[in-house]
Formats: sequence, structure tokens, C-alpha cells
Amino acid sequence: MHHCFFSLCCLWALVFRNVANKVPVAVEIAQAVVPVSPNAQPGINPAINIWGQNKDFEVRKEDSLPYRHRVLTLTSNITLIIVCLILLAACQRDQEQSAELFVFGTIIEIKLWGASPEEASHAFSELQQMFQGMHRDWHAWEPGRLTNINNAFAQGRPATADKDIVEMVRRSQQIEASTGGRFNPAIGELVRLWGFHTSDYPITGPPPSQLQISEILEQKPSSTDIHINGLELRSDNPVVQLDFGGIAKGYAVDLTIAHLRELGISNAIVNAGGDLRAIGSHGDRPWRVAIRKPGGGNIGSVQVNGDEAIFTSGNYERFRQDKTVRYPHILDPNTGWPAKDIASVTIITDEGLLADAAATALIVAGLEHWPKVARALDLDQVAVVDEAGTVYLTPEMEKRIQFSGDANRVIVGVNSSQ
Ligand code: ADP
Ligand code: MG
Repeated sequence: MHHCFFSLCCLWALVFRNVANKVPVAVEIAQAVVPVSPNAQPGINPAINIWGQNKDFEVRKEDSLPYRHRVLTLTSNITLIIVCLILLAACQRDQEQSAELFVFGTIIEIKLWGASPEEASHAFSELQQMFQGMHRDWHAWEPGRLTNINNAFAQGRPATADKDIVEMVRRSQQIEASTGGRFNPAIGELVRLWGFHTSDYPITGPPPSQLQISEILEQKPSSTDIHINGLELRSDNPVVQLDFGGIAKGYAVDLTIAHLRELGISNAIVNAGGDLRAIGSHGDRPWRVAIRKPGGGNIGSVQVNGDEAIFTSGNYERFRQDKTVRYPHILDPNTGWPAKDIASVTIITDEGLLADAAATALIVAGLEHWPKVARALDLDQVAVVDEAGTVYLTPEMEKRIQFSGDANRVIVGVNSSQ
């Protein structure tokens, strides 16, 4: 902002000075190209043609200024022009550059600070391509790389993945183990049975039968059934079907931030409908984001400190509706039924993948067990909202939020010392 003001002042000074001296800038540039003899007398000087007009130039009073003086004026004007151009370029960088891209049925809004319009449009077109690749490779039900892998698992064949899928499997195995199986991306068959392989919410009709659910659960699908050998995946268990719905958005946001950094961009926010990660700042102020509340609105806002991810999982947006009963899309892998009693979980940590998977796991953990699962994942900034609207917060989270409502708040320690 200061640059813009300063460069406008410089421009104004330049124009004012030249008007006051009645020496058009162009005259001086023309003179630089064809220097006038220091001894030129007022009158006709056929050597100089200015303003693009094809007529001889009548040398004005100022042109009889000493040659050294004119050269000095010229040099200072050129310097001022260069300063103006540099500051105007900085001015463009002082603007927010933003784009809305689309992946897995979600709009991803990307805002950059400190990038030129050219850098931003280059970054956005590369990211658009990246997102198309993710959509094609990670989709749980549209035919692509992941459905091929799942078909191979069902038939006991090995399948070739890529490094991103391998990374999601590897991290999922760790997170499944530390959450006591509450986060489990191998339950794709169960998610499909519930009808949650769709982008068209809400879905309606009765839930699947207990018999159908039990048939899947008895075969105990787990991401730890998958063996990784380079880029090759193989499952011991034919019921394993990968569904990255609880982790893909987080990992996509991480890869986006990594790519922006590779492009030399260090101030950005990548926001997938309120699930986001930010780096750097918004010029001379930090990024500030709202934390979503079940049923709409916000719990409050948070100032993002450098590089952080903020993710919220909820049971209120995607669900099956059977008459008056709602069955949310986050399933408890131990029972095969939707998780209940927590309406939303918000996590702040330094990585989108972990924040996303953890938010899903804590919903499954429920009001009784979420502090234990947060501790196992080494998370200290957590906010949980129950069905009655009470907000449970870790002390670290409470310090971060600037609350916007007067909801009932309860502080819950998750560290073993608390
Ligand atoms: P949202 O961002 O919509 O709140 P989540 O990040 O919690 O959603 O992910 C929910 C999705 O994750 C479901 O649609 C399903 O694909 C998958 N899923 C459901 N239950 C689990 C679970 N227990 N563990 C891992 N993935 C799950
Ligand atoms: Mg999630």
C-alpha cells in the first residue's frame, strides 16, 4: 500500500516538475537520443522531432539551458521513472491474487499475497492440472486409478499405485493404528453400502440392514491389510476397498501448499470450503479465518500463525435421511453405523492430511473418547461441538479463538498432565 502511495506521489512530482518547467519528459528523452548542441540558439532546430509530429521543433527557452543542467534533469527524470515502475510493480504484488478451482466436487479457493499477476496465473493453471490428476486418481467411485486398485484388491491381484496414493496408504496405516481403528480408509465397501458414494446429498431412504453391515464387518477391513512394495499395492483381505474421503482433501491442500512453495510463493491460503491451510501472511496482517459451526455460522475466528492447517469435520452436511432420522456419512468402523453425539470437530495442526483424518477420527471417538484420541495423535488444538451446541475446547484452542457467539464453553485438557 505504501508503495502505491509513494509511486503515485513520484509520478505526480514528475508531471508537476515537468509542467512547471514546461519541459515535456518526451523532449528530454528525444534530446538524449539526439543531443542538442550546448550552444544552440533559440530558433529552428531541424534535428529534433518530438511528439511524433513530423514537423520541425521550435527550440524553446528551456532548451537554451546549459547542457550539463539538461543532462542532470534528464538523469533525474529517468531515475524517477524507473523508481515509479519498480514501485508500480511492487504495487501489483501488494494485491491479493485469487482463483477458485474444483476438485472432488469441492471448490478450492486459493489466495496469494506478494505474487505478481503473471506468477499467480502460472501457479493457478499448474494447480488446476494437479487437481484434475487428483480427481482422476483418487476418486472412490468414478472409474480411475483408485477404482482399479480396489478392483484388484477384490480379486486378490497386486495393483500399481502412484507415490501420492502410496503416501496416503502409509499415513492411513499409522493413523488407523493410533486412533484404535476409528479412522479407517479401508471401509469403502461399508461407505458404498450406506449409499455415501455420491455427491448428491442428502440421500433418502432406510439404512442398510444389520445383516449386510455385519457381513462386511466380520471380514475386518483394515488399511494394515495392504502391503506396499514400491508403487505396488496388494491386499491380503478382499473386502478392503480404499476410500480417501476422510483424508484426500487434507492431502490435496498439503500438496497445493508444497507446489506453491516450489514456485517461490510464500504467502498463500488454500481453502476447501472452510478446511484450509495457510502460509505466510496477507501483507502486513496475518491471515484470519472463521471456524464453521454446525447448522451454519461460525464459532469464531482464528488468526493463522505462519504455516497451519485448520480442518472441520461435521455430521450435519452429508447424511442419509430416513423420514425423521438422519444418518451422517462418517461411519464408526467398529459398529458399521454412523458416528453420533458429536456434531463437529475442528483441529488446528501443521499438516492438512493429519488435521483432516484426525477430525474424522474424533467424530467417531465421540464425546467420551475424543480427548484420548487427540492425545494419541499428539494434537493440542481441538474444538468439539455436541448436538446441543456446547463447545468443548482444549486450553490451547481456547487461546486461539476469538469467539463470535455466547455458546456454552467447556475447557477439556488432553495432555496426560492435565
Ligand atoms: P467432511 O469433510 O465432509 O466433514 P470427512 O473429512 O470427515 O468429511 O470425511 C468423511 C468421508 O470419509 C466419508 O464420506 C467417507 O468417504 C469417509 N469415511 C467415513 N467414515 C470414515 C472413517 N471412520 N474413517 C475413514 N474414512 C471415513
Ligand atoms: Mg476428514
